[in-house]
Amino acid sequence: MSGEAPKPGHDAGAPPVVEFRGDVSKTFNAGTAKAYTAIHHLNFRIDDIPGRGEFIAIIGPSGCGKSTLLSLIAGFNTHIPATTGEVLVRGNPVTGPGRDRGMIFQRYSSFPHRTVLQNVTFGLEIHKRELGLNRSTMNDMAMEWIKKVGLDGHEQKYPSQLSGGMQQRVAIARTLILKPSIILMDEPFSALDEPTRIGMQRLTIDLWHDIHATCFIITHSISEAVYLGDRVWIFTKGPGTIAVEIKDLIPPSQGVDPLEIQERPEFKVALEAVAREFKKVTQ
Ligand code: ADP
Repeated sequence: MSGEAPKPGHDAGAPPVVEFRGDVSKTFNAGTAKAYTAIHHLNFRIDDIPGRGEFIAIIGPSGCGKSTLLSLIAGFNTHIPATTGEVLVRGNPVTGPGRDRGMIFQRYSSFPHRTVLQNVTFGLEIHKRELGLNRSTMNDMAMEWIKKVGLDGHEQKYPSQLSGGMQQRVAIARTLILKPSIILMDEPFSALDEPTRIGMQRLTIDLWHDIHATCFIITHSISEAVYLGDRVWIFTKGPGTIAVEIKDLIPPSQGVDPLEIQERPEFKVALEAVAREFKKVTQ
């Protein structure tokens, strides 16, 4: 996938939003008896699609390095630098976390001692000087996002007073309020029951089209990958790498309900193709 030509509609002069080049790998505890290579031979570029963004869904066996890939993009100090190769965001090597990248985890990451409103303003408070924000503007912005994620009326509650799905809505609002151009989601809906999960998929598709970000989502669910993804990557067993990219078969899902799309023939074809490749890669 390295050296892929930018697609029509891309700004040909702009660097890719995310690029892994030079055979990116990550070996933990390198040089010791505990050395373990989590990922290797990763080369890809994700170009900006102005006014739209793109959704990359990643599936693969447990422990094959999917979270390691996201952590390298996020710039977590437990993971950077890569052992070999280069990880670039908009042409610059990743040297740490940044406001341009937001992460949403499976485990609810809200602060228990803060209300919903205070959780959603948290990121703004950290960056208030550079963003030129005062308390009242931050609260107004937070209320706007609280409404967008459907938590209107719950803003004074604490996370412990909310269901799992509602807590994940807080995490989404907290992340998206900073308008990151890259959103990294690590099995964000795995802990939720099926109806809640479908509601969250619906919300994710709606909000993503609102903020035009490039999103990476790790999921165990092939149907979630096909619904949310514009392309689906299937990872090999560890050390992980992208074994297959499926793109052309994936039907567009903007404005289509996750339950409704499951009935469409083109969705079923994509689902079967991804499942078949997944089986081949992971057997
Ligand atoms: P996945 O997300 O696909 O389940 P991970 O990226 O979390 O996989 O982990 C891949 C492998 O790397 C696992 O064997 C894990 O134990 C190991 N690993 C992840 N992070 C670290 C770390 N900070 N130190 C040592 N090993 C790690």
